[in-house]
Amino acid sequence: MTSKISGSVALVTGGGSGIGQATCQQLAANGIAVGVADIDTDKAETAAQAARQCGVPALALSCDVVKPGDVDQAYAQAEETLGPVDRVVTAAGIVRLAPLHDQTDQDWHDQIAVNLSGTFNVVRRAMRSMCSRRSGSIVLIASRMATQMKPHHGAYAATKAGVIQLVKAAAVEGAPYGVRVNGVCPGWISTPMMIDCYGADALAAWNAACPMGRPGSPEEVAQVINFLLSPAASFVTGTALNIDGGRAIV
Ligand code: NAP
Repeated sequence: MTSKISGSVALVTGGGSGIGQATCQQLAANGIAVGVADIDTDKAETAAQAARQCGVPALALSCDVVKPGDVDQAYAQAEETLGPVDRVVTAAGIVRLAPLHDQTDQDWHDQIAVNLSGTFNVVRRAMRSMCSRRSGSIVLIASRMATQMKPHHGAYAATKAGVIQLVKAAAVEGAPYGVRVNGVCPGWISTPMMIDCYGADALAAWNAACPMGRPGSPEEVAQVINFLLSPAASFVTGTALNIDGGRAIV
């Protein structure tokens, strides 16, 4: 369930692709203006154009979440053009699979930089505005790897475990200011990231292990994110919801 709130403004990092793009589209369908922030400006523009088809303003924002200056600029641009941002989603993320003993310094640092520091940069910026306005809602995308483990996912999993702690930190500090912060932990979701990193054998193994026997879609994650962002989740903060077809319970 999501609420139709005209006048709301959302900022979504990684909004040009996959889960972030689906989230932008559903926000727009719910009447919410969207700032689509992505390192790939062309993809952000395409996603913003699709959102505008829903009849809401949408803005493509060039933003590398690793750079605090980019984040501040994108946030300011969104507020100037669309109005006060009251919903934020951090979907920008990367994965570089390797056994720990073969993980390169570069891949370790890149994953920490984008997934953890990048998420921090966005949350810090959002909290500054939202706490002073005494309202707002934030959803951080973690992963089932935040709490579970598979070979070759060590660095990625470490960043996502950090994201869950960021959710809790921001939730406890935001609560007195009326700011809610939640996370989601997707399992296998069919997006370009998954297509690039894993093959058909890995998908078959997922399907065999997942109680629902299939991967999820970006739209199924976006629906949960929209619920968490909306007033329908007004007493939900500091949680991290699994969106994994039951994979975590077997
Ligand atoms: P995706 O399709 O690759 O989308 C991620 C977007 O973020 C891409 O447009 C990517 O651009 C962008 N991006 C990468 N680095 C960035 C940076 N430094 N600054 C701004 N944007 C950046 O991936 P997805 O599958 O939708 O994943 C979204 C989030 O969900 C990620 O945090 C991922 O870890 C998490 N997740 C996904 C799954 C899954 O099964 N798909 C499962 C669990 C968690 P480029 O394409 O140019 O890199």
